[in-house]
Amino acid sequence: MTEELFREDATLLSCAATVVAVDEAGIVLDRTVFYPLGGGQAGDAGTLETADGTVIAIADTRKHKERPGVIVHLPAPGADLHALAPGTRVTARIDAARRQAHRRFHTATHLLCALVPHPVDGCSITAGYARLDFHMNEALDKDALTAGIARLVAEAHPVRHRWISEQELDASPQLVRSMSVQPPRGLGRVRVLEIVGVDLQPCGGTHVGNTAEVGAVIVTKIEKKSAMTRRVILGFAEPGGSPG
Ligand SMILES: [Zn+2]
Repeated sequence: MTEELFREDATLLSCAATVVAVDEAGIVLDRTVFYPLGGGQAGDAGTLETADGTVIAIADTRKHKERPGVIVHLPAPGADLHALAPGTRVTARIDAARRQAHRRFHTATHLLCALVPHPVDGCSITAGYARLDFHMNEALDKDALTAGIARLVAEAHPVRHRWISEQELDASPQLVRSMSVQPPRGLGRVRVLEIVGVDLQPCGGTHVGNTAEVGAVIVTKIEKKSAMTRRVILGFAEPGGSPG
C-alpha cells in the first residue's frame, strides 16, 4: 500500500519518500503527494529528486493495475531511472499549477452537481478543462449555469472532506439521501466531500478549501451527447486559459 498524503491535504506539494520498486509499470514509493488518475480526475505530474540532485521527470500517475492500493509514478519518456534503486530516498514534488487547476475544476464540478439535479453519467477533470455528463433530456442554459457557479464561488462556502464508516452510513439514511452520488460499499469507510450548505458526495479527489478559490470558472460549451445525455464543459475565464 502507498500512503496517500494527498487524501488528507490537497495543498501538500512535496514530501520525502523512499523508493519501494521500479519496474515496467513505473516507480512505486512508500508514500506520495501524487494523485493517481481516478474518479474522473487526471493524475499528477512532477519530479522525483534524489539526495545528490538527480531529477527524474514524472509525466503522470496511475493506480497499479495488479496491486490494489499501490500508486505508480510514470516516468517521462527517456527518463534515466538508474538513480532510483529500491531504498533510495527521494523528494517527490508535484507540478503545482497542474494540481491547482485540478483542485479548482474538481470543486467546480461539484458546484455544477448542486446546480443540475440529475444523475451524473461521467466526468473528466484535467488541467485545461473539465466535463460532466448528466443523465437528462431537458435543455441546459450555459449563461445561467455560469452565473450559478459564479454565485456559489462568491458565497465562499467552506469545502472539507471526512471519512464515514459504513456503519455510520447505515445509521444515517438521511445522509445518504442528501448525497448527489451514492457512496461505494464494501471498502469499510467512505471519503465524502462536503461543500458546506451546497453539496455532499463521496469523492476521493483533490479540492480547494473554499469555493472562493475556484475563481473564474465558466461553462464553455453544452453538448447533447445522446437523447439522455447532456455534456457540460467548464473552462477557466482568466486570460491565457489554463494555468497548467
Ligand atoms: Zn469529486
